Parts: sequence; C-alpha cells; structure tokens
Amino acid sequence: SALVELSGLEKTYATRTGDVHALSAVDLDISKGEFVAIVGPSGCGKTTLLKILAGLEDHTAGTASIGGHPIRTGNGDVGMVFQKATLLPWQDIAANVLLPLSLRRRPTSQDREKAAALLRMTDLEGFARKRPHELSGGMQQRAAICRALVHKPSLLLMDEPFGALDAMTRDSLNVEVNRIWRETGTTAVLITHSISEAVFLAERIFVMSARPGRIVDEITVPFDRERS
Ligand code: ADP
Ligand code: ADP
Repeated sequence: SALVELSGLEKTYATRTGDVHALSAVDLDISKGEFVAIVGPSGCGKTTLLKILAGLEDHTAGTASIGGHPIRTGNGDVGMVFQKATLLPWQDIAANVLLPLSLRRRPTSQDREKAAALLRMTDLEGFARKRPHELSGGMQQRAAICRALVHKPSLLLMDEPFGALDAMTRDSLNVEVNRIWRETGTTAVLITHSISEAVFLAERIFVMSARPGRIVDEITVPFDRERS
C-alpha cells in the first residue's frame, strides 16, 4: 500500500488582495521506496505541495496522510533539502548534519556514527570538522542531503536542490542522489525545473500546470535503478 496518500487535495491562500487557489483536486499516491519528481511552471503549486507533505503548511480540503497518519502541521516525519544549502555557517559540517537530532536530544554515539556514515557515503568524510564556507556549493548540498537523512525520515523532500549550481556539479550530484536513494531505500520527492533531471532520477514524473495548480500528466520512466 502507499506510503503517501493525497486525495482531493486543495490549497487556498487567503491574502489581503483575495484568495489564491494554489492547488486543486490533487490525487497522488507514492509507494514506499519510490522516487517521484514533480515538474511544472513557476507558480503551479510545487512548493505548496511539498510544504503540505512536510507539515509546514495546512491544506484547505481533501486528505493527506503519510504511513496512514493524517499529516498535520508540525508533525512532519520528513527530511528537506532546499535550493540553497541552509547550513549554519558557525557550525562545522558534522554538527550541521546532526542538527535534526540535536534539536531533539543530546546526540548519542550512535547518532554520531550515523552522521559519519552519511558523510562517508557522500565523500565528505574528510570535511566533518570544516565550516560550510570552506566547501564548494555542491559539497554543501551533499552535506544538506546528509542532514535531511540523519534522523531516518520516512520521506526525503527536495525543492530544486541543485538549481543554483553549475551544470557539471548538478550532473555529478544527480549520480550521487541516485546512489544515496538506492543505498538508503528512502522514499523521495523531487521538485525540479529540469525534465532531464526528473527522467534521470525518478521512477514517476508528475506534471503540474497553474491556475489553479493541478496534476495534468503522469509519466512512468522506463526503469533501471542504477543511473550513471
Ligand atoms: P519559487 O517559485 O522559487 O518556489 P517564490 O519566489 O515563488 O519561489 O516564493 C518564495 C517563497 O514565498 C515561498 O515560500 C512561497 O510560499 C512564498 N510566496 C510565494 N508567493 C507568495 C505570495 N503571493 N504571498 C506570500 N508568499 C508567497
Ligand atoms: P511553485 O513552487 O510551483 O512555483 P508555489 O507553490 O510557490 O508554486 O505557488 C503556487 C501559487 O500560490 C502561486 O500563485 C503563489 O504566488 C501562491 N502562493 C505561494 N505561497 C503563498 C503564500 N504564502 N501566500 C499567498 N500565496 C502564495
């Protein structure tokens, strides 16, 4: 059965100048371990959809659940990666990766081992004691992916994670993300403007259109798990 179930999902933002109907009649099931991408023009509701999945924004109608539990704001069991690596500049990479755990409790030696293993997996082993500014943009995004995965979320959400990076860095990060996804078995949702990135990474691609934001097409990518 599906890990994520969205049914008849609607989102309207009430603003001073009137209502903005951001999402309409969104039906979407995502299986455990699946990698899906969401593509569509600016303003079609991609970020809104991701925020609802993350428990950062309420929906206004319909149902949304993860693992059979209704999503409520504040209870999201997700890891998020944003367009800009939002690492804390005054903390080293290891502390940044541990942040989702250290916000809840004092990290245990197991937590530190988990962070170290993620840094090894993303070839950042030697950078644990460095500050973010000492790393390239691509390395910072790899660290941000480690941080998103350290608390073993049921869902990894990525909002244009490599949009700010050059094409070569993007390509190598895509290979990296494919490897991380295969090695961790995580369920992943990627927002991207790049169809080629979506085809490279995802098993299914949902195409959205704007006014109001809705899913207008679903593409199943002929599939071979290992991309290189
Ligand atoms: P992008 O198109 O790259 O997703 P935007 O520049 O549209 O980003 O939005 C940046 C942030 O501002 C997002 O968090 C979004 O939810 C919020 N936002 C977008 N449009 C509005 C709006 N009309 N009023 C208030 N906040 C908005
Ligand atoms: P995308 O990520 O596809 O660019 P968004 O989800 O950011 O789309 O936005 C969808 C629509 O909702 C846009 O019309 C945007 O201006 C509007 N919107 C997004 N966030 C807000 C907000 N916080 N308040 C009001 N309107 C918003």
